[in-house]
Amino acid sequence: MDSSTSPLTSERIDVFWEEGMLKHYTGTGVFDTLTDPGFLEVLEKHPENSDRVKNMVSILKKGPISQYISWNAGRLALISELLTFHTQEYIDELMQADKDGGKILCEGTILNPGSWKASLFAAGTTLSAMKHILDGNGKIAYALVRPPGHHAQPSRADGYCFLNNAGLAVQLALNSGCKKVAVIDIDVHYGNGTAEGFYRSDNVLTISLHMNHGTWGPSHPQNGSVDELGEGEGYGFNLNIPLPNGTGDRGYEYAMHELVIPAVQKFEPDIMVLVVGQDSSAFDPNGRLCLTMEGYREIGRIVRKLADKHTVGRLLIVQEGGYHVTYAAYCLHATLEGALSLPLSLLSDPLAYYPEDEALAVKVVDSIKQCWKDNVLLFK
Ligand SMILES: [Zn+2]
Repeated sequence: MDSSTSPLTSERIDVFWEEGMLKHYTGTGVFDTLTDPGFLEVLEKHPENSDRVKNMVSILKKGPISQYISWNAGRLALISELLTFHTQEYIDELMQADKDGGKILCEGTILNPGSWKASLFAAGTTLSAMKHILDGNGKIAYALVRPPGHHAQPSRADGYCFLNNAGLAVQLALNSGCKKVAVIDIDVHYGNGTAEGFYRSDNVLTISLHMNHGTWGPSHPQNGSVDELGEGEGYGFNLNIPLPNGTGDRGYEYAMHELVIPAVQKFEPDIMVLVVGQDSSAFDPNGRLCLTMEGYREIGRIVRKLADKHTVGRLLIVQEGGYHVTYAAYCLHATLEGALSLPLSLLSDPLAYYPEDEALAVKVVDSIKQCWKDNVLLFK
């Protein structure tokens, strides 16, 4: 048994959660369009609905992982805290939208009565989780939050996100004396908001593994492509790993070993943030990548090992997307099993039955590695 599986290191995950986040109501319609042309008898909920998070809470309370979980309350963020990542103008826009009774900020992204308070809970709860680690009260904390945050840019809402929960937590770590923070984002979509917030900084290494979806309009001008490497001092500290459709457990594992582990090792962070979305699963309606529970478990194990090696085990995990109301909860369970470095899996996979062909993913990862060797300081 090596040190990373030693029972002396973190045996517990401190989960931060607040019920008020359920009160962000996103409505029903044709999937996430926020409209109902009237053709259907049965309308479905917007994919970013409270059911998905209720199931996440439930599986952590009732699943076999429950014995390793300690529950903590969240809180509302202060406006002054939001200004560490967002502009005053943008926060004013959100507060005005709340006062006016709601607003569609961009495609699929609606602020309804209750949404602003839920957003403040998501941001504040993530900050509480980060502070818990910074104060030395725990090694691994998980902020179970919604609305999600990683698409929210300093001055713009995007992709169901209003406030960048993870970005605010990173900024808190920096303001509390951390010199270097590494962010690994495994949501199926590009973590463009977090990337944008630290694009000119070499204190924050942002790595995003995502579906190669490109830009999706004015709220999301970034492509998430390999050549978006950061600017100025931040050049080489924003690493994008756009994976081909169909990439599954083995493709991800290859990317983690060839790209993510070497980058983080060279960077030597003081603290790590794992930004998780279960929309990279094989069954998610919003993604075309194919992770199963075992893939999530392995990513959890890898990140935990990196944290043990570089950050004395300090790891903040922040919830983002994940829209299959059953499988997202199961994949979350698996990710946290991995982060606990448990020798055996606690929960079997009820759904993983598609075969994986990783040849294309391996080819793409190899070409990204070559590009980084030519351009990225961490790979020289
Ligand atoms: Zn996503």
